[in-house]
Amino acid sequence: MKKVKVKIIQCGMLDEPLNYNIIKKFKSSAFEITEVEEGVMLENMSNGYDYSTYEDNYWENKIKGNDNILTFVITNVQLDENHYARHLSHKRVIFSFRQILPYLTEKHIKLENVILKALYEYSLVFPELRKGYENADMWHNETRGCLYDIDGVLSDIVMTCKKPRICVSCENQLLHKGLSAKDIETIKQELKKIKRSRFLDMYEWVQKHIMLSMFLGIAFPFILGLFTSFVYDLIK
Ligand SMILES: [Zn+2]
Repeated sequence: MKKVKVKIIQCGMLDEPLNYNIIKKFKSSAFEITEVEEGVMLENMSNGYDYSTYEDNYWENKIKGNDNILTFVITNVQLDENHYARHLSHKRVIFSFRQILPYLTEKHIKLENVILKALYEYSLVFPELRKGYENADMWHNETRGCLYDIDGVLSDIVMTCKKPRICVSCENQLLHKGLSAKDIETIKQELKKIKRSRFLDMYEWVQKHIMLSMFLGIAFPFILGLFTSFVYDLIK
């Protein structure tokens, strides 16, 4: 599998800082980060009626495209149609945390993982990546925890990014597009590295099963005491 070269550009300030070292050091067989450019300023936006939305036309002029690399812009401003990602011509993707950040922070989803998931999402269909949604056959309305969830309901971004995977339908599509079964298996293994810490999973489990957790918290010392007495009786 040929790795897609990726240039990341951060435009404007982010509410939560991203650790680009984590993203750059991630070993992927689908993409490689060749450049990270930070500190790109955003001009004031005014389209006559809305001062907060940075429309596709703005980005088309602002960001230079290159058909040989994926140009991935990270920002925190509102995008067209309240989307959190926009596909432009010349392999440019604009990604904004504006709408999705509250859902991600509430569920302790690492922002670096969200970016890594997105880089897999676009790298695997890089040859067909075009403006708008002409290659929309990959994306599906149903949220399956898959790289190609549309996440029309924005809170679904949590399920998509918690443990991103490739669903059966998308796996078949990728095979049809020319990826080998071996490539897909490699990607699946790599995606397993994009996950939350076990501590957070345990914390969430305890919150969901609070009564059982309390019971175990009370019962465990009692059971441990019985076990210790039993062992002591055996060896004395
Ligand atoms: Zn899918």
